[in-house]
Amino acid sequence: MLRAEHIEKSYNGTQVLKDVSLNIKQGEKVVIIGPSGSGKSTLLRSISGLEKADAGSVSYKGVPIREKGAYDRTEIGMIFQSFDLFEHLTALENIMLAPVLVHKENKERAKEKAMELLEIVHLSERADYYPQELSGGQQQRIAIARALAMNPKLMFFDEPTSALDPEMTVEVLDIVVELVKGGMTVVIVTHEMEFARRVGDRVVFMDQGTIISDMPAERLTMSAAENPRIKQFLSQLG
Ligand code: ADP
Ligand code: MG
Repeated sequence: MLRAEHIEKSYNGTQVLKDVSLNIKQGEKVVIIGPSGSGKSTLLRSISGLEKADAGSVSYKGVPIREKGAYDRTEIGMIFQSFDLFEHLTALENIMLAPVLVHKENKERAKEKAMELLEIVHLSERADYYPQELSGGQQQRIAIARALAMNPKLMFFDEPTSALDPEMTVEVLDIVVELVKGGMTVVIVTHEMEFARRVGDRVVFMDQGTIISDMPAERLTMSAAENPRIKQFLSQLG
């Protein structure tokens, strides 16, 4: 579904991604872990088309991702650590906005769908609330509903719960688990190892701009025993 090959990326002369290659199959659940600053967010931005890599290639369903109009950008959804909701719009309006503006959906239909999505993220009763009236966990669930409103085929999550306290983290991760059960292809950067084991088919470990390990999730414990860097990282998470 997505093929990234030999990606290189530098900022101000410092190389942040070094010859990174990653393939994602349809329906696959890929978890990316690794220390802060190892290049996880940069990798997600580079392979989702948000940012241009200095070298290498990324294709989505066989089409180069940077080619203008080559594929439907809205097939790829992205969720960030910061929820980035539009503050002056209600939860419902946040979810309806892109379908109406980008997909030119009829407003009534978009509203119906937004209400269905609010139900999926268990926030039907908060439809008319503004972001600042919602908890962090609720805002992130609205952000997920907003992404889903565009019918993405592939979703990237960049530490979706790292700004949340443990209770809200569970609320958000439960929604991701539901999505995954529905067959969505997902790539998730997370430090939540229990969750990673639960939903991940594959665990990719990044360190200093390279992928140092890419393995089936069930091998994680074994790899940690064999690889001192992974072992150290996991022990820091506690
Ligand atoms: P991670 O998500 O694993 O914590 P990042 O991809 O955010 O790592 O960052 C990797 C490195 O690249 C860090 O040293 C960071 O400071 C640097 N970096 C990331 N984005 C930028 C940017 N837009 N401009 C300059 N440096 C950046
Ligand atoms: Mg990051």
